[in-house]
Amino acid sequence: MIPAHRPLVDGDGRVIAYLRLSLTDRCNFRCSYCSPSEYEEGRDLLTRAEIARLVRVFAGLGVRRVRLTGGEPTLRRELVAIAADARATPGIEEVALTTNGHRLGDLARPLREAGVGALNVSLDTLDPGRLARLSGPGADLGSVLRGLDAAAAAGFRSLHVNAVVLSGVNEDELGALARHAWSRGATPRFIELMPFGGGAPVPVGRMKALLAEQGVALVPDDKRGWGPAHYMRQAGQGPPRRVGFIGAMTENFCDRCNRARVTATGEFQVCLGGDSRFNLRDLIRAGAGDAELEAVVREALQVKGPRHHMEEAGAGLVLLPMMGIGG
Ligand code: SAM
Repeated sequence: MIPAHRPLVDGDGRVIAYLRLSLTDRCNFRCSYCSPSEYEEGRDLLTRAEIARLVRVFAGLGVRRVRLTGGEPTLRRELVAIAADARATPGIEEVALTTNGHRLGDLARPLREAGVGALNVSLDTLDPGRLARLSGPGADLGSVLRGLDAAAAAGFRSLHVNAVVLSGVNEDELGALARHAWSRGATPRFIELMPFGGGAPVPVGRMKALLAEQGVALVPDDKRGWGPAHYMRQAGQGPPRRVGFIGAMTENFCDRCNRARVTATGEFQVCLGGDSRFNLRDLIRAGAGDAELEAVVREALQVKGPRHHMEEAGAGLVLLPMMGIGG
């Protein structure tokens, strides 16, 4: 039975139904835009039991979808069990996962069997040298592509291939990335760079022009997902070949925000582009009951303002690195 709840409402009146939960801030990649060169890994991560408890508490507050992320969530040994716990939680309708794909060759099927319904695989380039330059020597393109193939074979309800577009790095590959994703039954999505690390952004409008130049002419599409992406599809005959765009900087979508985040060390982060966080792990370890956790979550969300302030990063606003928050 779905637990009774009053909807979880933030300080700007938006209903929060989506929790992004980081399982680790470790990563086997070192993407320049995500992980700073100096980064101290968090200690004392939430345990599997604490994660299961938090999912239950959030489900009781009306959260219906959980995304497991990181760092790189596939580095967490208990990943499949954590996913199964989340899926078995009354009220949770979907468990999703975001990964760099490197370890999906072995994990795609067990994750699907554990009840993960939606999978995002990050893939910024189809050039092995570029991937290594962008994401570090641990980033092996062959493993990522095999991982994506395993995911396609495992039959997820939804499969996305997400690329952050960086000026002077992968702008020339948008068409090829879209075609590769489609050939695997996945939907490509192109993400505007947010100011968590290095790199020069490409605005969504320019991405669309680049796709057209690279043989992918698009028309509007009415698909909407759980998140901030808007979709278009390739013009012409045949089954829809959609492309998603996530433009956090040029197409602010904070008015539709439905999410909150918990980091691997239990920080409840109310906005990706903000600096307000509250440690739930410490509260659990101090013996807090569910009612107290619920009250703290409701209260903490009241500081969530109408929009992010990421453009102020570096000028007053201190953002944790993306790999620390959980992207
Ligand atoms: N390691 C996993 C992965 O690679 O998908 C999960 C964590 S990663 C932080 C999640 C997503 O955040 C990836 O798609 C990554 O490209 C995206 N991301 C990281 N830093 C970003 C930035 N500065 N701007 C936009 N997206 C970013």
